[in-house]
Amino acid sequence: MGIKMPEAYFATTRQIITVKQAQRMGLKTLSGRISCAEKDCSARLRFVDTYVKGEERETPVAAHFSLISSITSPHSEDCRYNLDAQVRIAAREAPNLLYSLRNGTHEFRLHVLSDVLQNKMVPNDASGSAPNANDSRPTSVEYQTQGSLSAYLSTANRIAVLAARVEDNEDLARRIKLRFRDEAIPWTDFYFDEENFLRCFRYVRQRSYQPICVTGEIKAIEEPNGTRKFKTIRLKPPRRDNTSDLLDIPIVHLNFDPELMYLASNLSVGDRVVVYGHALASAKTKGKITFQNITVWIRARGQIGVVSR
Ligand SMILES: [Zn+2]
Repeated sequence: MGIKMPEAYFATTRQIITVKQAQRMGLKTLSGRISCAEKDCSARLRFVDTYVKGEERETPVAAHFSLISSITSPHSEDCRYNLDAQVRIAAREAPNLLYSLRNGTHEFRLHVLSDVLQNKMVPNDASGSAPNANDSRPTSVEYQTQGSLSAYLSTANRIAVLAARVEDNEDLARRIKLRFRDEAIPWTDFYFDEENFLRCFRYVRQRSYQPICVTGEIKAIEEPNGTRKFKTIRLKPPRRDNTSDLLDIPIVHLNFDPELMYLASNLSVGDRVVVYGHALASAKTKGKITFQNITVWIRARGQIGVVSR
């Protein structure tokens, strides 16, 4: 429930412990003794060891700490693991991108994000009040200062990282509704992890105009070479199901614009990242295997975030 945490406060030793230390101690030692590691927050936590999720394709979920109850022992209001507070912070930066609805939820406008990414423009009311939520006409755009552009990218980054860090996407779906112009978009058609890469490929092939969000573990980082002038990161494909003849392998490529290659310099194989942007789908068959390539170009800072390392 809520945001997964990489560390916790262990009352017995009065120290902050990591997931690895918790694994060594075991559930019995930790039970009832761990709470949120953030200052001024005493939310009670439990330890969740690695497990495997997914039916069609098994995906390992890394060990983490989790809230015991958001009702009886929630995070403090200013704790950085307080999901409601994090959503409000994201909305404050770019209210026209993450628009506050009357019932306390928010609307993440993917068409606005699309405009920002494609034209490096932002809607002209970027700093003012957000327009009527029922107005589904394409917003008019005009150039804005670099400052507001980065606020849009940073808000989208916050949402992408939150999506990758929550235990259950429902936690976020209850708070943030997705919209692309006048269409309501389910979270399953915006946010894809390795379990859903194959579906992502099919979706992108139909709707490359809608920005999506992809998360996964870095499998390889390829430097520019004689024929390719940009850096590429490949994400680990989902584990193959040995019981079937599935020979479609989805491969996610993150290509960095030459001037943004430095964004990849602090990343390593094994890090878990999340990216958002427009994706392209292209298939290539070699013998019995079809590689289903999903490519996202990193053209702006903020498009990529680290989930865990
Ligand atoms: Zn907390």
